[in-house]
Amino acid sequence: ALRIEDEEIMELQNKFHVISRRYKVLEKIGEGTFSSVYKAEDLVGISNKVIKIHRSKHDITSRKKFPLVALKKIYVTSSPQRIYSELKFLYNLSGCRNIIPIVDAVRFEDQIVIVLPYCEHADYRDYYRDLPFNGIKIYMYELLSALSFIHDRGVIHRDVKPNNFLFNPATRRGVLVDFGLAEKVRDPHEHKYTCACISGGLSLSDYTDNEGKGYPKDDDRPARRANRAGTRGFRAPEVLLKCPNQTTKIDIWSAGVILLSLLARRFPFFDSNDDVDALVELTTIFGVHLMKHCAALHGLGFETNLPTLNDNSRSLSEIVFYALNIEKEANTFPEDSVAFDTLNCLSDDGSVDDSEMGVKHKVGFHLLKCLMELNYSKRYSADEALSHKFFEEFGR
Ligand code: ADP
Ligand code: MG
Repeated sequence: ALRIEDEEIMELQNKFHVISRRYKVLEKIGEGTFSSVYKAEDLVGISNKVIKIHRSKHDITSRKKFPLVALKKIYVTSSPQRIYSELKFLYNLSGCRNIIPIVDAVRFEDQIVIVLPYCEHADYRDYYRDLPFNGIKIYMYELLSALSFIHDRGVIHRDVKPNNFLFNPATRRGVLVDFGLAEKVRDPHEHKYTCACISGGLSLSDYTDNEGKGYPKDDDRPARRANRAGTRGFRAPEVLLKCPNQTTKIDIWSAGVILLSLLARRFPFFDSNDDVDALVELTTIFGVHLMKHCAALHGLGFETNLPTLNDNSRSLSEIVFYALNIEKEANTFPEDSVAFDTLNCLSDDGSVDDSEMGVKHKVGFHLLKCLMELNYSKRYSADEALSHKFFEEFGR
């Protein structure tokens, strides 16, 4: 009996004549929320032009007889607007080495397949535990370079996470993929207007009116609504708080969560079931006082009666110390693992020593703090991050 995967490949080859004429489907490589992705050979060289400008001299694909492509088969249940938007972003964002270029798109009846150059990469789960400190730097530099490019063009990716950033530790290249949730930054004048109408009763004045009085009973105001697209655990505070005027800074927060995950050798780092749980996780780190301040920025009150939460704010290095220490005590990593390079220069209050590694880590933790800044207007932009001392040796 054929495996489901083989059946799918057969179906893609046989039903889809345009595909079988141009590509030889090899295997299934990904299963996302909106698509299945297959590795294939480009039999007619349609991808040559695109791949030639894109691939690096180290790429293994360049030595293959047929160039490799990734066929992204969009689920037919996706809305035409969503598919059109993904294609448009891919098309408009070509020209950056850190963004996946589009080779082709084919349609048969209601099925759309996007053709992308195959991007050799490793699975995040296979390297986040032992990527050396310098590798973490390169990963972040590549990711922030991709974000700088799209943010310059007024595009928010909205789903920055390891699965959507294909990094190859061997070639030290990283490519941002999956523009299925991307959107254009709204015109600031436009969102003043939307703010007034979407946020309904939850305006800043309501916040001050209700201060000290707790929640209004029988609140019949419409629920606050905003774009919450993205992945649990990577959502910025303003997304969790359903702020209607979200900016490119939401991608920077997600990049910060990845840096935290790489330094703490923990994935996923945040593991909540819903947005309220996610806010609780953030409150455990930042403390109630700072979360109230952040909510107030978006015209919201922030109340909690959870006894475990208090005003204490912990530094991110303190959090990383605790996370790594748990692994050390559980003997998850070998004694000499690079995972402990970070732990070895930290003490339990999160302070970093003055050893050579310690000095490097101080810079890394400073950058992390600027990426995971609760206030989006103070949070670093991608360009500010790239100019940070952490990336000094990359000479930007
Ligand atoms: P979805 O919108 O369904 O999440 P993605 O575009 O994120 O789809 O692709 C899903 C997965 O397929 C990715 O996480 C990655 O593992 C793999 N993939 C996608 N594009 C490529 C590519 N160009 N080269 C290699 N693998 C890819
Ligand atoms: Mg994806």
